[in-house]
Amino acid sequence: MKKAFVGGNWKMNKTTPEAMELARSLKNAFLGITDTDIAIFPPFTVISSLSEILRNSNITLGGQNMHFAEQGAFTGEVSSKMLLTAGAKMVILGHSERRHIFGEDDEFINKKIKRALEDGLTPLLCIGEVIEEREANRTEDILRKQITGSLEGINISSPDAVMIAYEPVWAIGTGLTATPRQAEEAQLFVRKLLAERYGEEMASDMRILYGGSVKPQNAFELMSQPNVDGVFVGGASLTVASFAKIVDETRRAVRQK
Ligand code: PEP
Repeated sequence: MKKAFVGGNWKMNKTTPEAMELARSLKNAFLGITDTDIAIFPPFTVISSLSEILRNSNITLGGQNMHFAEQGAFTGEVSSKMLLTAGAKMVILGHSERRHIFGEDDEFINKKIKRALEDGLTPLLCIGEVIEEREANRTEDILRKQITGSLEGINISSPDAVMIAYEPVWAIGTGLTATPRQAEEAQLFVRKLLAERYGEEMASDMRILYGGSVKPQNAFELMSQPNVDGVFVGGASLTVASFAKIVDETRRAVRQK
């Protein structure tokens, strides 16, 4: 049985003291939870301090991005080894804000995934359509293009090697959530794409998350869908109360699946 996953993407929020305080509170809030994998993705500046605070906790740390090069003249970038040695185990790649604000494409994301895997970081690959694509019935074409391009040439030997988050761009930070049915349809399709690439057995064990305005009020219904294996949370991961409630709702949904 796959463990549910709840990830919190802090984006460009939290100064060092704020981040340390939130991490301490999350550590206490999640004490003893073993049936769900919980991860937070804070800004680079605090990963190393949070890794001290979260030592011996059940919260995994991840970076929000990285460069594919090992090191060098890439001002403003960080490498996979910098993330690893700061205490991160995962990295978000292909987030829609990276794709749409910073112009990252699948080919660039693909190089980063390869580097992350080579160095032992677990990539959390984000994919999803913009509203015009959904309205033009192009969601599946876009998901196919993103999965094909981002995972080109990538072989995996374990279903946990890569995690996918389906994040419809129109639902990120907008308060608009995909209906549970829209999430399920898209994620079932993503699973079929993964099965074409990695075989049925591997694909069925891989975790596909839903992200896009997940809140305590909608987490249960989204998580109750058969192909939603976890949730990826932005805004609602910034306070203990809402993030902890989402973890609770996720666990409640899994018990009833
Ligand atoms: C995200 O940034 O991945 C995200 C899903 O954000 P929000 O929950 O705020 O829509």
